Amino acid sequence: MHHASQNTITQNIIDIQKRITEAEIKYARKANSVRLLAVSKTHPAEEVLSALQAGQHDFGENYLQDALEKIIAIPKLTHQPEIKWHFIGPIQSNKSLAIAQHFDWVHSIDRLKIARRLSEQRVAEQAPLNICIQVNTSGESSKSGVMAEEAIVLAKEISQLPRLKLRGLMTIPANSDEVEQQRKPFRLLRQLKDEITSHNIELDTLSMGMSNDMEAAIAEGATIVRIGTAIFGPRLK
Ligand SMILES: *Cc1c(COP(=O)(O)O)cnc(C)c1O
Repeated sequence: MHHASQNTITQNIIDIQKRITEAEIKYARKANSVRLLAVSKTHPAEEVLSALQAGQHDFGENYLQDALEKIIAIPKLTHQPEIKWHFIGPIQSNKSLAIAQHFDWVHSIDRLKIARRLSEQRVAEQAPLNICIQVNTSGESSKSGVMAEEAIVLAKEISQLPRLKLRGLMTIPANSDEVEQQRKPFRLLRQLKDEITSHNIELDTLSMGMSNDMEAAIAEGATIVRIGTAIFGPRLK
């Protein structure tokens, strides 16, 4: 498969930013309250560079090895220091060290054990690692993420860990093509964030919405949308 060209990626980012702005207006969200996370998983460093040149600075990755190649290659190819890497995939214990060293955010925390390791492995010279707890909002046991009640307990525990900064919640709902249906799990996530906040744990992030359900997520309060296909095209592996 051909890589997406600089022009295609630039135009796609312009189109997505326009969709975000239109949804902010339509759903009475503050201007610029939704941040675009470009999910570059499976796409090569050149495509990340194209997006960077188009003004995109936050990138999401699911596969550690694939991500590390890009994280190491890109600073050598550009003087842009502003890039932020977000880990959004499942985490095995033996991957936590590299994640603590190389990423700015982790969206996919669903176990205290991994959170503890990341806190221990994040060195003092680095800013605290930004964390979202992944919540299973669809009730399907095949989906990753904690159930709502567990999220409250986990949030309390993570908020005590010194080298982490708990920012919010993330979810990947079951697919649906109907906007009202899409909004339900996002609404649940927003209500859960409000509930956790009522326990005096400050959260400012709802990481929700992908290429197909971005508007529904913005309607329900998304502050980060994670967009892959609509920027980079179909996944390459
Ligand atoms: C792949 C992925 C995305 C991007 O999905 P698209 O449908 O390609 O926009 C977002 N979030 C997570 C966790 C992903 O794994």
